Amino acid sequence: MEWLASIPTRAVPPQESADRLAAQFSVPLPEQPTEPAEVIDELARLAEPGLMAMPSGRFFGWVIGGALPAALAADWLISAWDQNAGMRYATPAAAAIEEAAGAWLVDLLGLPTGSDVGYTTGATMANFVGLGAGRKNVLDHAGWDLNTDGLTGAPRIMVFAGAERHASVDLALRYLGLGAATLVDVDREGRIRPDALAEAMRRSQGPAIVCLQAGNLHSGAFDPMREATAIAHRHNAWVHVDGAFGLWAAASPLYRDRLDGLETADSWATDAHKTLNVPYDCGIAIVSKPEALRSAFGVQTSYLIQDEHGPSDPFEKVPEMSRRARGIPVWAALRSLGRSGTATLIEGLAANAQALARGLGRLDGVEVLNDVVFTQVSLSFGADERTRRVTERLIEDGTVWMSGSRWHDRDILRISVSNWSTDAEDVAAAIAAVERAMAAA
Ligand SMILES: *Cc1c(COP(=O)(O)O)cnc(C)c1O
Repeated sequence: MEWLASIPTRAVPPQESADRLAAQFSVPLPEQPTEPAEVIDELARLAEPGLMAMPSGRFFGWVIGGALPAALAADWLISAWDQNAGMRYATPAAAAIEEAAGAWLVDLLGLPTGSDVGYTTGATMANFVGLGAGRKNVLDHAGWDLNTDGLTGAPRIMVFAGAERHASVDLALRYLGLGAATLVDVDREGRIRPDALAEAMRRSQGPAIVCLQAGNLHSGAFDPMREATAIAHRHNAWVHVDGAFGLWAAASPLYRDRLDGLETADSWATDAHKTLNVPYDCGIAIVSKPEALRSAFGVQTSYLIQDEHGPSDPFEKVPEMSRRARGIPVWAALRSLGRSGTATLIEGLAANAQALARGLGRLDGVEVLNDVVFTQVSLSFGADERTRRVTERLIEDGTVWMSGSRWHDRDILRISVSNWSTDAEDVAAAIAAVERAMAAA
């Protein structure tokens, strides 16, 4: 409670380094037991200087959401209930709540009814799940039994992704044994170019997967879903969409059209711990063909059930047997926001990002690099050296946190508006902090 109460006013960056904290925590393991309450008091006291105020409305780093009150409390309940939520029969409440949240998600995002929903640790693993279902599906079509014969000797799967795909897509492909994607040219905002995709696919044969992006880390831009998916499907490729933060645009009537054709893809990955503001960690994998998902991640090697579209056990949709019921805070977040509140949340994040882009763009010596702002703003302060100095001064200032990055061969300062509690005052504080950092740099 002290931590939560401190968030509105505390400096955002941690006050202690990991090395100094490690020295305090790294005492020999005591021989004797300690009272639980004493343990927790010590934990809270020692950790406090090393906590980053990530749940703060003044935190604009990477793409990290806060925690909506209902989602946070639901997360506490999950720990107290301590359900190993893999099987419907053993933990019916957890399964029912996650299924309800899954149906809400599919509806809110306008995805095909009957899609399967699996809850993962984040979008990295949600990408792994979607791409893993795709791997199984395209090899099935090539007449290769992956579950029996493995990947060795299998037909090569060509994977195509935009040059500005997120690094987690590369990781997921590596975990899946698919190697590196063939990179396809993108436009100035990082969107995959349909003509380049068509050209790359024309030159390839055999099983293929196309990985699209809903929400570029630097520009917030969305790949042209309908066009790119149609090209991929002409080659019988599986289409996966990495929408870690941007998939949520589909839940807003204002932004939905930027994802036109989203529902024509085969699988989607998103994060609840980013835009939906559920506590870490929670990602969501949605797959339109339940049989592809369940035959890839289900426990039986050949998947046979009477109704492939009926609910199945939660552990058949993710790469875990024992699992935390991560979908419960998603249910609580959506239940507390409602349909209109979810749209308002997303539109509020975008409105704050647009206000930051306008306010900062007016300052002398600031260049806003992305054209159309959703929730991300990329800034340059001139030469790389100066941008880096401004970024360092801003972090020393401590009022806000924004992270440095590199985009189009330039050092940049990147803003992500992801926190439900960010308001006009926080936006004004952020602009003032950047002005101070520029003066000091
Ligand atoms: C954050 C992010 C990911 C990875 O998500 P995690 O939750 O960190 O695993 C993937 N893709 C995009 C576009 C992201 O922004």
